[in-house]
Amino acid sequence: MEDCLFCKIARKEIPAEIVYEDDNIIAIKDIDPQAPIHVLIIPKEHYESILTVSAGNNIISEIHIIANRLAVKFGIVDSGFRLVNNCGENGGQTVDHLHYHLLGGRSLSWPPG
Ligand code: AMP
Ligand code: ZN
Repeated sequence: MEDCLFCKIARKEIPAEIVYEDDNIIAIKDIDPQAPIHVLIIPKEHYESILTVSAGNNIISEIHIIANRLAVKFGIVDSGFRLVNNCGENGGQTVDHLHYHLLGGRSLSWPPG
């Protein structure tokens, strides 16, 4: 999508601190980290949210597998981490391009705010 922030980051038109990349996914450090480790895992293809991913599409499982690998890379497997998808206005989604937050490195409270 022409004007989408995460599409622009995936196309390298906007700089970001890339921590992982393959043909389908890019993972970057969040610009406003909410935990010592705060990575965004983003499909390169534009989906507005999880609501527009069709059944049979592997992208969600790919994201989860990459989240596991990144948790190892950032040393947060033993201490624990959280993988979060915000969907829609009440869910706190501010960028309308599907992404998951990988958060760790501190104790995370529950329920979230
Ligand atoms: P959400 O609120 O779930 O849609 O998450 C959007 C996330 O994108 C927020 O945590 C922002 O801090 C993050 N963000 C916004 N702009 C950038 C950027 N240019 N580079 C990295 N992260 C960003
Ligand atoms: Zn996009």
